[in-house]
Amino acid sequence: MRLENKVALITGGSSGIGRETAVLFASEGARVVVVDINDEGGNETVDMIVSNNGDATYVHADVSKASDCENMVAVAEKAYGKLNVMFNNAGIMHAEDGDALSTEESVWDLTMNINLKGVFFGCKYGIPALRRAGGGSIINTASFVALMGAATPQIAYTASKGGVLAMTRELAIVHARENIRVNALCPGPLRTELLMSFLNTEEKKHRRLVHIPMGRFGEAKEMAKAALFLASDDSSYMTGADFVVDGGITAAYVTPE
Ligand code: NAD
Repeated sequence: MRLENKVALITGGSSGIGRETAVLFASEGARVVVVDINDEGGNETVDMIVSNNGDATYVHADVSKASDCENMVAVAEKAYGKLNVMFNNAGIMHAEDGDALSTEESVWDLTMNINLKGVFFGCKYGIPALRRAGGGSIINTASFVALMGAATPQIAYTASKGGVLAMTRELAIVHARENIRVNALCPGPLRTELLMSFLNTEEKKHRRLVHIPMGRFGEAKEMAKAALFLASDDSSYMTGADFVVDGGITAAYVTPE
């Protein structure tokens, strides 16, 4: 058991990466606080964990709201007495996110508020709890687009993930002597609801697939395993890193046919 006696809070836990990670962390001994705005999905994740003899609690919180984030951390400490792992994973990819000319200010603001400010709030309210627990691990979900540009633009999303990565590095340095590690998970394109509803035609999917050396989309389960490594003591000398799990995209100049 790699997370025995640990308490982990996971935002975006109703679906995709967050759900798979919640289930995996619980199977590794963690007590899990599942956070989302999708209450039905969040409760389903909890049911999946409980039916597997795990321990989990669902909390409704919109990560773009400071008071919700303060509350989710308070609920974690109240329910389980402490917080050891904070996975700031909730995010959106807006259907009308395009290039700088076509993207509305409202789309920019919503994306930044959830994807970037949400991570800031997670850290703002999570770090004091991690300190109270004697340290811990923060994982922020960025993306491979924080490292590379794409010709299929999502200007707000890309900028938000770049911000998450930069913020992760600074947090890691500032809190390095407090036994708090902060790393970014940079997934490649995944076969989750978020991306499949954005790449909503075969042509769009194909356009993305041709750039992936492995020739397939990643799975949320594969990200959960990476998150488990970052959450556990297995990564004890790792902080401020961009942990890329992307089927080879960022290594490729030309991909095989
Ligand atoms: P997903 O859509 O399956 O899950 C995202 C979850 O976040 C959903 O349950 C959703 O309800 C929740 N959420 C949205 N807004 C929220 C808010 N304001 N407050 C709380 N919860 C909110 O998507 P996923 O692929 O599992 O994405 C998880 C993270 O991974 C996101 O940050 C995403 O940007 C990132 N990511 C995804 C991909 C991909 O290809 N799917 C690639 C790189 C990075």
